[in-house]
Amino acid sequence: MWQVKTKLEFQLNRVYIYLYRKTTTLQKKVHTFASNLQRVSGSVKKGLTSRKRQPLAPLIFPKHLGILCYNSLPPGFSKTITEEIARNIHSFFYSMRDLEVWDLPPHFFEKDVRQRKRASKDYLLHSTKKFFSLSHKIGQLSRTNIIIAFTDWPIYSSHHKNAEFLFGEANRELGVSIVSLAPLREDFYGRESDDQLFLERVLKVTMHELGHQILRNFNHCCDPTCVLSFAKDIEAVDCRRMSFCVTCQDKIEKLRVAFNL
Ligand SMILES: [Zn+2]
Ligand SMILES: [Zn+2]
Repeated sequence: MWQVKTKLEFQLNRVYIYLYRKTTTLQKKVHTFASNLQRVSGSVKKGLTSRKRQPLAPLIFPKHLGILCYNSLPPGFSKTITEEIARNIHSFFYSMRDLEVWDLPPHFFEKDVRQRKRASKDYLLHSTKKFFSLSHKIGQLSRTNIIIAFTDWPIYSSHHKNAEFLFGEANRELGVSIVSLAPLREDFYGRESDDQLFLERVLKVTMHELGHQILRNFNHCCDPTCVLSFAKDIEAVDCRRMSFCVTCQDKIEKLRVAFNL
């Protein structure tokens, strides 16, 4: 009887040890699986966030700059714009080519259009992405790599859905910047037109949008008088100087040296 009991206890003990080992192995497997899962989800999450923040590859300068209009610029503007670019950032471009006036294709008016009222006037706004893709195609046809385009149409941002009546926007991936002339005119605010002020604003916004193409991984300067500062309204545009602040100029200078321009 004692022998039977001992044998039974022995067998039970073996079963217990076997089960204990199995449970421990299973626990280890579950633990490893959980930590792997955590690591994978962590890296996926990290990957997603870092993709968002991933810096753009630096452009190789110099480039060919194309200047185009989707309506005619006032007389003399094109020359003054070219001179202003030449004075500030000419060494970044092999050439500055006037790509002249382009008509907007009929399909342009069929989608991505918003109707808005401003100071009791009705406006039709176009999305910036339409200007980006059309200008990029024109740039490829004309063998220019950076485009600055001008339009009389008011625009809204394709990236920030609530940003309407923008002065300009830059698409750094495509190397295209668009400037909207409409909100740069004094008449837009119900005031008497001022050609000199309008020209100054066009030049400031042009330099701002080209500044985004050169300093690709830098968004806005915190100095409100710098041409690369963010302008939430026309007063902020007027507050900017025509040139880059010392800090931004220094960044541009470093690039100029790096590219041996
Ligand atoms: Zn900007
Ligand atoms: Zn600055």
